[in-house]
Amino acid sequence: MKKKNFIRITQPTLEPFFAYAPLFKESIESGMLTSGSHVRALEERTAKYLGVKHCVAVSSCTSGLMLVFKGLGLSGEIIMPSYTFGGSALPAVWNNLKIVFAEVDPETWNLDPRSVEKLITPRTSAIYATHVFGVMCDVKALEALAKKHKLKLIFDAAHAFGSSAQGVRAGNFGNAEVFSCSPIKLMTTAEGGIVATNDDALAKFVRLGRNYGDDGTNRLLFAGLSARMSEFHAAIGLRSLAKLPVNLKKRSACAKYLISHLSAIAPDIRFQVVPAGMQTTYYLLSAYLDPKKMGFAREELYDFFLQHNIGARKCYPPIHEQLAFKQFAPKKKNSLSLTEEIGERVLSVPLYSHITKKEMDRVISVFQEFITSRKKRARAKR
Ligand SMILES: *Cc1c(COP(=O)(O)O)cnc(C)c1O
Repeated sequence: MKKKNFIRITQPTLEPFFAYAPLFKESIESGMLTSGSHVRALEERTAKYLGVKHCVAVSSCTSGLMLVFKGLGLSGEIIMPSYTFGGSALPAVWNNLKIVFAEVDPETWNLDPRSVEKLITPRTSAIYATHVFGVMCDVKALEALAKKHKLKLIFDAAHAFGSSAQGVRAGNFGNAEVFSCSPIKLMTTAEGGIVATNDDALAKFVRLGRNYGDDGTNRLLFAGLSARMSEFHAAIGLRSLAKLPVNLKKRSACAKYLISHLSAIAPDIRFQVVPAGMQTTYYLLSAYLDPKKMGFAREELYDFFLQHNIGARKCYPPIHEQLAFKQFAPKKKNSLSLTEEIGERVLSVPLYSHITKKEMDRVISVFQEFITSRKKRARAKR
């Protein structure tokens, strides 16, 4: 059990029960528990918000990606970053693809198009990138690369519902972008995912695929999944979507408050770079802690926060170092050294749309206390 005044790394920003109740009531009274009017409304409204032709609601980002990969007919090798959530790699494994890991950008921590290009072979069928923590990839460069080499391009947009680059929202790039609506994602349906695409055939495939591959005749056209979204999940999503603009704004303001205060205490702290013209969701507010510059290891700060009832997070352990994906680890040493360094040094601190000033000030003062104690330690050593 976490203590009562524990500040969690993040949490969903929800409304009082009565905001959801009429929608739940409608589902119960109509007897339509899945794939009904709430799901249709969510698909229409998310498509409108994102400015994309099709949004297909599914049971999770993972199942959405599994269906997208299958629908695009991927085979052979897929190039992706190792610096992302491990779950990102699952759709590739379930589609029997060979994962080839490329390096990431040292500032945005997103897939580096130059590293990708070096790894393209005749066996490559797709480029697959994550908009890490909501900061969008260099979508233009990746699109150009995919076009040049006739590759499919898919985005794991799990963190990026509400992100944009030069005014164009995530959801509009590549062959498809898939969002996660799990509880800690900004746009949540409790559990769920949204597949966004402008490709009519792919949207149709995902619609059939989330329903076993059944077109309604009970004869399956292909081996799909059971990956529909229930009406109750869609109802939560409808409320979450309605509140998204205000929640995004609040979260952005809180992120900026934390960044400016933490940077004032320790000028060598480096936050994930948000390129000009980009709006991020600040899915996890993450800092890069260089032990040589800062004078301490990330683990020390993590432990200190925990001792003071603050939940930080060490994101992400590189995928190629995880047991589930060991067979895809590069043979050549140091080929993912930047990824490994970022994986060892990044620490995320608490942030959610309804975080209070008092909570943020506690994070800031505990950080101040930690930095003061490290400075004392350094002086004592001299
Ligand atoms: C949350 C997350 C997923 C998985 O989302 P689900 O909806 O739980 O399947 C995939 N990729 C990334 C980067 C995530 O953060």
